[in-house]
Amino acid sequence: MSKSKKKLLAWNELPIGGYITEPGNAREYRTGDWREGKKPVIKEGKCNNCLLCWIYCPEGAIEREEKGVKINYFYCKGCGICSKECPAKAIEMEEE
Ligand code: SF4
Ligand code: SF4
Repeated sequence: MSKSKKKLLAWNELPIGGYITEPGNAREYRTGDWREGKKPVIKEGKCNNCLLCWIYCPEGAIEREEKGVKINYFYCKGCGICSKECPAKAIEMEEE
């Protein structure tokens, strides 16, 4: 199977220990499956583009865009750190 057509894995399909089989293979692991009930949502107009959430997110699930940031729910595990650290209170944890 070519690299670009590889099946993306859910957390419970990972090899035991989630070991690294090749450089960059953690990209295939859907850590977003770990969310339980709540997800962060960025409130338009409140974000001042300080990028603190981008720095704090342990999953690298915050993506930088030309104007602001976006959450990649494929990787976001719903820990809420971004919401807690956002100085503008622009990220709210909402029910899925
Ligand atoms: S921490 Fe808050 S204000 Fe700063 S970029 Fe993230 S969402 Fe925007
Ligand atoms: S909830 Fe946690 S994993 Fe999801 S974007 Fe925020 S800091 Fe990252």
